[in-house]
Amino acid sequence: MQNQRGVHVLVVIYPAQGHINPLIQFAKRLASKGVKVTVATTPYTIKSIHANTISIEPISDGFDEGGFKQASSLETYLESFKTVGSTTLAELIVKFNNSGTPVSCIVYDSLLSWALDVAKEFGIYAAMLLTNSASVCSLYWQINQGRLTLPMKQEALAAPMPGLPSLGFSDLPSFLTQPAKHYAYLSLILDNTGALDKNDWVFCNSFEELERELVKALMGLWPVEMIGPLVPSFYLDHQIEGDTSYGASLWKQDKDQCLKWLDSKPLKSVVYVSFGSMSSICSKQFEEIAWGLKASNMPFLWVAKEFKDEQLLEFTDSVGERGLFVTWCNQLEVLAHQAVGCFVTHCGWNSTLEGLSLGVPMVCVPQWSDQPTNAKFLADVWKVGVRTKKDEGIVTREELEKCLREVMVGERNEEIKSNASKWKEHAKRAVSIGGSSDRKIDEFIAELGKSKD
Ligand code: UDP
Repeated sequence: MQNQRGVHVLVVIYPAQGHINPLIQFAKRLASKGVKVTVATTPYTIKSIHANTISIEPISDGFDEGGFKQASSLETYLESFKTVGSTTLAELIVKFNNSGTPVSCIVYDSLLSWALDVAKEFGIYAAMLLTNSASVCSLYWQINQGRLTLPMKQEALAAPMPGLPSLGFSDLPSFLTQPAKHYAYLSLILDNTGALDKNDWVFCNSFEELERELVKALMGLWPVEMIGPLVPSFYLDHQIEGDTSYGASLWKQDKDQCLKWLDSKPLKSVVYVSFGSMSSICSKQFEEIAWGLKASNMPFLWVAKEFKDEQLLEFTDSVGERGLFVTWCNQLEVLAHQAVGCFVTHCGWNSTLEGLSLGVPMVCVPQWSDQPTNAKFLADVWKVGVRTKKDEGIVTREELEKCLREVMVGERNEEIKSNASKWKEHAKRAVSIGGSSDRKIDEFIAELGKSKD
């Protein structure tokens, strides 16, 4: 490991689990290569982060007790984070500059575009990290380029889109089909993808082999570089570091309970079910999934963060030891466990990458945002799983059972398992020393050593 003398990267994090994880992981990867790294995040997030190799400092979103939950709306929250965040980030940089460890570069989550202005103010490097797939980001980028208009209509899909497979209307990110509903997030995303060129680097949590067609089609047209998967290296390349978690959990997990229960189950027999940190499924959908799992006769581990005990009582009694409900778990440890045979997922981008990187076949139950597009890729491009069909917005118990059988024991079981192993291997190669993503990170670090003109 080389000591990158004088280089100090400040990583600015948006305080949601699906954003904290890849940013922390990137910070750790830089630190593992000898770079001094400080993470800046909100005071209430700091206590959830446990990482020895990086320092952590507070910046404020204006809601220091509880963040987003304290704000009257998403718009208010984002506006406050922009104003108070810019000021406190600038103060932090001044503090470092005065203490002999000046900041060379800000790496920021793509939801925090104001961090770019702060970097410009101080004349330091700026790198944006996109936390969606490059394919999804390319759709947003095309809107900025004037090649697509909002709301996207079925007809727009008749023309081929560079580097993307043929997409159906239901494969599009919900932000593009229902822009008015998601205005706050969408306007942020569009601002960012319209300003890619203003950054010194734009990184994406993906890897070239995974989105090869897109990388080829957009080469020289946009500045996005793939540096993922930002999944703890322990699962990919044991040479780099030994973390078995991201080291940042906003919820408490009972580690021993999950692992003990999984240890008692046969090889590749368990269905792991999780809808991530933000999606909440309605009670009707919950019920259908529950009875679909029961009918499958397969053991299952379900992260049911948002459901109250009374709702589960009747069901848990009827499945007994065959099902385990937890409010949160270390998803990576679960996916890596030998008893897990399938992941029923909402297809958030981190969960998608984790499932791919750990070689776990998937049953896709996308909800909103980029999830439908990720599901399309998982089922039809990478072919590591199947996508459930909805009936009046609901995945029925019969549909879930059918999909579970298809992935776990059906005719396509061997093909899906073999594709899952192939992508696991590709993911590992990308982040191993000399791999496509690892090289990009090394190039980035080498450039940071040069002074910005
Ligand atoms: N996660 C976890 N434990 C759980 C459920 C999720 O650690 O019980 C992690 C998961 O590993 C992933 C993140 O939470 O890194 C969720 O991110 P994703 O992009 O999949 O979905 P989001 O929560 O943003 O919708």
